[in-house]
Amino acid sequence: VPQPPRVYKTPAIVLRQRRLGDADKIITLYSAEHGKIDAIAKGVRRMTSRLAGHVEPLNHGSYMIAHGRNLDIITQAQTVETFQLLRDDLDRLSRALYAAELLDRATEERSENFALYRLLLDSLRQLCETRDDLDMLLRFFEMSLLGLLGYRPHLDECVTCGRELSGPGNCWVAELGGVVCATCRPLEVALRMVSVEALVILQALQRARLADEQLLKPAPDVAMEVERVLRDAVHYALDRDVRSATFLDSVRRQRPTSESAGSAAPLGL
Ligand SMILES: [Zn+2]
Repeated sequence: VPQPPRVYKTPAIVLRQRRLGDADKIITLYSAEHGKIDAIAKGVRRMTSRLAGHVEPLNHGSYMIAHGRNLDIITQAQTVETFQLLRDDLDRLSRALYAAELLDRATEERSENFALYRLLLDSLRQLCETRDDLDMLLRFFEMSLLGLLGYRPHLDECVTCGRELSGPGNCWVAELGGVVCATCRPLEVALRMVSVEALVILQALQRARLADEQLLKPAPDVAMEVERVLRDAVHYALDRDVRSATFLDSVRRQRPTSESAGSAAPLGL
């Protein structure tokens, strides 16, 4: 088995940071080549630190990382984009932090997924530029995230009978990963109804490419319905990960050293 190189370099986006001891921080990066990485930025809380400006949440840069005994160590960093436009606008910033936190929660360390890296990067750029509905961008992010994690919602046919969904009376069932038609819908349990209008938006989000989602302009109540369905789908997908052993292990590993100094984006999940 070939040993990994002692030092490696990768483009990455900072998802969050938390304090470690008096002067250091643990930086969680989502990298292009190695998926999510936790790495120590030494001395980064000192005024003289040259690294400090490069490890702020949402920073996009190129990171030189050395394998450490427990955690890897960031040895050098070069910023490519600071996304200053996001930082100057709380509406945009809160959404960007939400996207970063969602990606953090949804992924395990060292599981390479270039498409996820790309999705976050493109979404941050789009969040800087767009003049339209910031929330539709998040819905697109959530829908894409679900697909890339293997939880693509079934939205075209009924998950039970396979018939094409048309007309009213459909509902979303997270446990089944999709929409159930009016005929198959179990009546004894309370389910989340999905209106025809919301289903059209959800289907369009699934087919859209980034930037296309700006063409979607649902009425506020429909947008709310779409948000609830996606939030439910995301919650269900993440909940499974929470139960997985690797996730619990990583939480236990972090507990002795971490203080809560991460991003303050309210997730509400
Ligand atoms: Zn059916």
